Amino acid sequence: MAFNNAGRFQPFEQKVWLSSPTMHGEEMEYVREAYQTNWMSTVGENIDRIETLAREKSGCKHAVALSAGTAALHMAMKLAGQELYGQPSVGYGALEGKRVFASDLTFDATVNPIIYENGIPVFIDTEEDTWNMDPVALEKAFEIYPEVKLVVMAHLYGTPGKMNELNAVCERHKAIIVEDAAESLGATYKGKQTGSFGKYNCISYNGNKIITGSAGGMLLTDSVEAANKVRKWSTQAREAAPWYQHEELGYNYRMSNVIAGVVRGQYPYLEEHIALKKAIYERYKEGLKDLPVRMNPYDTENSEPNFWLSCLFIDKDAMCKQIRGETDVCYVKEAGKSCPTEILEALAFINAEGRPIWKPMHMQPIYRMNGFITRGGNGRAMTNAYMEGSVTDVSMDIFNRGFCLPSDNKMTTGQQDMIINVIRACFE
Ligand SMILES: *Cc1c(COP(=O)(O)O)cnc(C)c1O
Repeated sequence: MAFNNAGRFQPFEQKVWLSSPTMHGEEMEYVREAYQTNWMSTVGENIDRIETLAREKSGCKHAVALSAGTAALHMAMKLAGQELYGQPSVGYGALEGKRVFASDLTFDATVNPIIYENGIPVFIDTEEDTWNMDPVALEKAFEIYPEVKLVVMAHLYGTPGKMNELNAVCERHKAIIVEDAAESLGATYKGKQTGSFGKYNCISYNGNKIITGSAGGMLLTDSVEAANKVRKWSTQAREAAPWYQHEELGYNYRMSNVIAGVVRGQYPYLEEHIALKKAIYERYKEGLKDLPVRMNPYDTENSEPNFWLSCLFIDKDAMCKQIRGETDVCYVKEAGKSCPTEILEALAFINAEGRPIWKPMHMQPIYRMNGFITRGGNGRAMTNAYMEGSVTDVSMDIFNRGFCLPSDNKMTTGQQDMIINVIRACFE
């Protein structure tokens, strides 16, 4: 199904990506250095340097470079689980049978590490002001499950969540926060870096993030004991002995010194990338301001996002009918109205990459049996009502009416203007 104004637009010769890596040259120097000095390993100068850079940037006392952001989140779940519930027997997870509150509107990498440690995620609905975990719903969740002691929250698309409110709720219930700052490196809340609010925090250097090593992640914490544990666990949990002696379960999660070279070359460009992403966001905002849409919102007083992805949210009255099944979607075109599906198809037609919002975790088949808490309490009751078409939770509302715009920092202003015109055409 091509969009109705296809004839007016000529597809880009070169694809405009959602968010692709942007290299600067230094990366290659550090990779070459690793090669020439033969530190083709999971130890070396590049790793030491980026751990220092991550520490300095975040303000956290310790940083451990790992193979992925997901690995960092796994280590964070293990640390928190052992701190709260003790060391598990071999074959059991550190969160064995324990509920953990988690962001609902996020990538599943935020949540899966709870399962790696045999915990039970309970999803918390989203607030409309920043599209992150709703502190009111979180408070409600503690009413329903007062035994919960761990909360993992993500900063969606680089926009800081309501850290003051979330911290206050967690302090009241003596719960540990793990921050998933995979998407929000460089974003600040009240002048403080995201990835420094939680007890254990994670960032990612995956290929599409604001800076990248092609892969990689970092665990951040103020606790030296925690950092040392992660250094040990991530290198197969070797004990201090002349041979390979093991008292604990180990992992091969350490970052390669070659990857670290790429990350090292990228760090000096973090602020430049953020400035480019912000300019893209502002251009979209200006170019689409008279349409019945809004950009992904943020707290303009307290936070400065990294603007990793620009997103659009369509007014209720301007949505044409769009129906999503588990793997398929269709929509009915209406004059003056549009929907994410129509616009994403139109963008694909001109060779530009947009993307649906992360499908909420509580709607994922793998998590269909897990709890979901809204401001009103049991969100699963709401899910049923949603199926009948009457009401919806905030996460599903954003999934239904929102989508990610092409946000590549190498997109030209001419290309962005065309993207804006294509979106405008969808509302004709
Ligand atoms: C990318 C991402 C991760 C995982 O990072 P990897 O380095 O790809 O493992 C985790 N959480 C969120 C929200 C992400 O966007």
